[in-house]
Formats: sequence, structure tokens, C-alpha cells
Amino acid sequence: MKEFVKKILIDEKAIAEKIEELGRRITKDYEGKEVIFIGILRGSVVFMADLIRKVDLPCKLDFMSMSSYEGTSSTGAVKIKKDLTYDIENKDVIVVEDIVDTGTTLNYLRDYLKLRNPRSLKFCTLLDKPSRRKVVFNCDYSGFTIPNEFVIGFGLDYNESYRNLPYVAVLDEKFINED
Ligand code: IMP
Repeated sequence: MKEFVKKILIDEKAIAEKIEELGRRITKDYEGKEVIFIGILRGSVVFMADLIRKVDLPCKLDFMSMSSYEGTSSTGAVKIKKDLTYDIENKDVIVVEDIVDTGTTLNYLRDYLKLRNPRSLKFCTLLDKPSRRKVVFNCDYSGFTIPNEFVIGFGLDYNESYRNLPYVAVLDEKFINED
């Protein structure tokens, strides 16, 4: 195991099975429709790439970039760093996120995207840490509920590193540097 990994929380096989299940659900729920997937950069990229290949529907991709995180803690204030490219009015939209933690980012985004009048707006996350919620936020499609630990891998970073690990792992505290 890598020296910065304290433990592997979700292995590659479990992730692949879960993504297949989420893809099947989305395919069924949106039968006959086109879906616009909006990936939240950069953490959702790995999950989104796998998820869309398990969705058997016409779809388009767009990306947004938001920030409320630095190091291992949320700053609370959400900023939009990159906005949508497409007009989502009257479209069926699914926002794809790596993890819902305090809920601040997606709660803000829900209000923001509603103003663009999509026909439908749903949220899909790979990971959920409900014990950390500061605002009420429930995802329509959620992969795994995880305990209150800082995780890395499968797209998730610590100060932009570790995104390419093929599993979700807990980062060893020795590698956390909060100054
Ligand atoms: P929220 O606004 O507090 O729900 O935070 C959502 C964002 O925080 C996610 O998109 C991640 O970028 C980041 N985040 C929250 N928890 C973790 C974690 O355990 N590891 C890595 N990033 C995290």
C-alpha cells in the first residue's frame, strides 16, 4: 500500500459495481430523454467518465468549477470559477459531484441552476458524508455513505494530489499539513 494511504475505504471492484448500478438507474429513470450531465471540476471527472459510459441514453456534457475548499476544510463561501457553456433551459440536467460534505456547494448550486429553468434538475454523487452536513441537502443518486474522514482517490484530492488513485482511501494524518 502507498505510504500516504491509511486505509482503503472503497476498492476498485466495489466502485465499478456501484457505478454500473447508478448508470442502470439513470438509464431507466430518463428513458426517452436526453440528459445534460454537469460535472463539477475537478473532483467529479473520474466518476463522471465512468458513469456516462454506463448510461445508455443520448447525453451531453458540461462542466462547472466552484470553490469552497482549501486543504481539508471548507471555507463556507461558494464561488463560481467556471460557469456553464450550454443553455440548460428546458433540459433534463444531472449534476455530478465527487462528494457531498457540508452540502454548501450543491445547495448553492441548486438555487443557482434553478434560475436557468431546466426542465428537471437532479444530483448524483459518488460519496456522501451526511454527518458533516451544515445545510439540508439530499442527493437523488448517491453511491456510498462514508464516515467523517478525509478521503482521497478516484478523483478526490488533498491539495490537488492523489486524484489518480483507482480506489477511495483515507489519507494518513502524517501527510496532512494545515498551515
Ligand atoms: P461541501 O460544499 O462541503 O459539500 O463540499 C464539497 C466539496 O468539498 C467536494 O466537491 C470536494 O471537492 C470537497 N471535499 C469534501 N470532503 C472531502 C474529502 O474527504 N476529500 C476530498 N475533498 C473533499
